[in-house]
Amino acid sequence: MERRSSPEVVRRMADLLRAGAAMLSERCPLCGLPLFRLKSGEIVCPVHGRVYIVRDESEVSKVTVQGVLEELEKFVAHRISEVIQNAERSPGSDVAEALRSWLDILERTERILNMVTSPKREEERKETNKKSSSGG
Ligand SMILES: [Zn+2]
Repeated sequence: MERRSSPEVVRRMADLLRAGAAMLSERCPLCGLPLFRLKSGEIVCPVHGRVYIVRDESEVSKVTVQGVLEELEKFVAHRISEVIQNAERSPGSDVAEALRSWLDILERTERILNMVTSPKREEERKETNKKSSSGG
């Protein structure tokens, strides 16, 4: 089902315009509605509030890939905890093998996520836990 802009959304867009916001040609990567630039310079979606600034089509695909990878990351983390729980119930099973394959997927996911997310964000990212692994 394709949903047209509801009256609520139209009203929010009107409110934004009335507040002096400018409608942009860029669209929200989540819902496809036009984005608005506030007087403060922030780019917002009338539905989702503040969103990423999308520069071109490759940026759009990156945003989408990022969302999928973050979902995958959660999924894998959940599976790993299941493997550990099952291991406690049946110690005989090949836990190491199962863990290895899930951790392999998790590692790849995080590596791609790092590639996809903007390097400019590095400054914002805090060094909560620094891994001391020396990869080649
Ligand atoms: Zn949106």
